[in-house]
Amino acid sequence: MIIQVTDLKKNYGDLQVLKGITTQVAEREVVCVIGPSGSGKSTFLRCLNQLEASTSGRIVINGHDLNDPKVDINKVREDVGMVFQRFNLFPHKTVLENVMLAPVKVRKVPQEQARERGLALLNKVGLKDKADVYPDKLSGGQMQRVAIARALAMNPKVMLFDEPTSALDPELVGEVLAVMKDLAKEGMTMIVVTHEMGFAREVGDRVIFMDQGIIMAEGKPKGIFDDTQNERLRSFLGKVL
Ligand code: ADP
Ligand code: MG
Repeated sequence: MIIQVTDLKKNYGDLQVLKGITTQVAEREVVCVIGPSGSGKSTFLRCLNQLEASTSGRIVINGHDLNDPKVDINKVREDVGMVFQRFNLFPHKTVLENVMLAPVKVRKVPQEQARERGLALLNKVGLKDKADVYPDKLSGGQMQRVAIARALAMNPKVMLFDEPTSALDPELVGEVLAVMKDLAKEGMTMIVVTHEMGFAREVGDRVIFMDQGIIMAEGKPKGIFDDTQNERLRSFLGKVL
């Protein structure tokens, strides 16, 4: 298991957003997280990479217990790549510079080496020819593919995706999902919050249905999508499918 989460709780003041999440993710597994808006999906991902401190519970990533005071959170975070709904590329840097930045600044990778790897990653997401342009010349789908390449540049053990296609025009969704599918095929461990039920069904090894801060249902995609017993799951799927 590369990620183990035990009874994770997160409060914002009086609001309990995560009410005890327990789950594990195996190496090379693709877990898709679905559920209504406000159910705590983003908060869950943000706790996993420590953008948010959890209120209680235990998170172990790649053998590092995040509660252990001796753990170097920044090191753990380097193992966890994250791609958000909005692309957050640096506007005054070229596509390639965006991808090279963290390896050079954080990992002290030599420029030339970072450049070569950056170009290889851009090639992987189908954007090698855009290496020297600025983000404002890209479509949303292209920006999101750069964001994926940028996250991969740190050689993460796990990739977290928070609705990576939700802000895209419908015709651009497919190119981003295709890159994610390739990553999954190569064996990347992924947690993907998504409303793309086709992707969850086809690429997900497991689907987690979150509702009101808990895992309401969890299982193989077929079991989840064909579940006729769970009323809340049925109602949610009825709205999104
Ligand atoms: P989802 O991603 O499933 O839509 P979120 O994790 O974004 O859900 O939010 C879950 C709940 O937590 C919502 O009620 C939201 O308003 C609340 N919330 C999220 N972030 C914060 C924050 N920084 N401060 C206060 N409340 C927050
Ligand atoms: Mg969210």
